Amino acid sequence: MWDDFDQALAELRRRGRMRQLHPRRLDGVHLVDEAGRRLINFGSNDYLGLASFAASNSMHVDSVGAQASGLVCGWTDRHQLLAEAIARFEQTESAVVFPTGFAACSGTVSAVCRQGDLILSDELNHASLIDGCRLSKALRHVYPHRDVDAVARLLAEHRSAYRRVWIVTDSVFSMDGHVAPLGELCELAAGYDATLIVDEAHGTGILGDQVSGACEAWGVKDRVPIRIGTLSKALGGQGGFVACPRVVADYLVNHCRPLIYSTALSLPAVESALAALAHPEEMRRRRDRVCALARNVRAQLGLDCPAIESGIPIVPIPIGTDADAVAASQRLYELGMFVPAIRPPTVPEGQARLRLSLSADHSDEMVRRLIEGLPSF
Ligand SMILES: *Cc1c(COP(=O)(O)O)cnc(C)c1O
Repeated sequence: MWDDFDQALAELRRRGRMRQLHPRRLDGVHLVDEAGRRLINFGSNDYLGLASFAASNSMHVDSVGAQASGLVCGWTDRHQLLAEAIARFEQTESAVVFPTGFAACSGTVSAVCRQGDLILSDELNHASLIDGCRLSKALRHVYPHRDVDAVARLLAEHRSAYRRVWIVTDSVFSMDGHVAPLGELCELAAGYDATLIVDEAHGTGILGDQVSGACEAWGVKDRVPIRIGTLSKALGGQGGFVACPRVVADYLVNHCRPLIYSTALSLPAVESALAALAHPEEMRRRRDRVCALARNVRAQLGLDCPAIESGIPIVPIPIGTDADAVAASQRLYELGMFVPAIRPPTVPEGQARLRLSLSADHSDEMVRRLIEGLPSF
């Protein structure tokens, strides 16, 4: 009955692309594997080390599950406080809280981009934005990664044929650490009456004086009306959000299926996000630390990049073949460090890499060990 599935998996195995779940225990900046080996974790998105900070500040809940969709009875006063805290943090009129960042991205894009609209989408956008485009009834053009000239050409050629045009992009690209050219995209959007939707999943907590993300760092917060974020990365918890004008929030509450037909964010997750957002100075302190580490690692590895990207805690180490990336990751594992190898289809063919994620809780000594263990390239 499952022969075709077996064959598909056998093909992945043959190509060394079989993915598997491994039970691991997370312990601060370490992880403990199935065999009980303790490794320094360079694979986590907990860039600020807030996962354990928020845990110790958020253990007072009467119920774990929210018990129902927010629209039925799953929306508590704590959810309301969280939405207000996010809107203040993002300086938007309103905010909507989602069970995951993935649901926030796919649900928002599929709901707000409607029939008769055009979506321009960066080719390296996150899977959740891509799925949102696929579920939307709008037409979609994928443009080459960060290519503003291509966006300009598409707008010049197609703008007039559509009711609305949306430019959809990650702010910080999760596999490259690249930052989207948001200033130029905003200029184009203004010139052609298009609207930006930016996914700040890896920007929140990292970029900008107030650590609200790349839109803040580029000075375009007021020109990007819909900003999506996650509570699951730098904020150390779980969940997603959309910061937006009130009319968009109200529209989402009425049209966004993952919001209407999914149980509201769990209460420990709400508390952990509230705890993180209640400590902006702690976030900034930890951000300064992790960005300094990232600059240091890039300098030592001779990785050149624009200033805005130099402190991004995602540092891709280009390798090339799948086998070499896996071997490099394995070697680091044997040295007591977990650095994931990222292979196609997550990245393009021939661009397998190590993806280093730094945390404010990594010590200088841990980073020194890491640099010593990395392959020269
Ligand atoms: C991780 C990620 C998401 C999804 O967020 P979750 O809260 O993990 O579901 C969305 N967009 C980007 C760019 C991401 O990296």
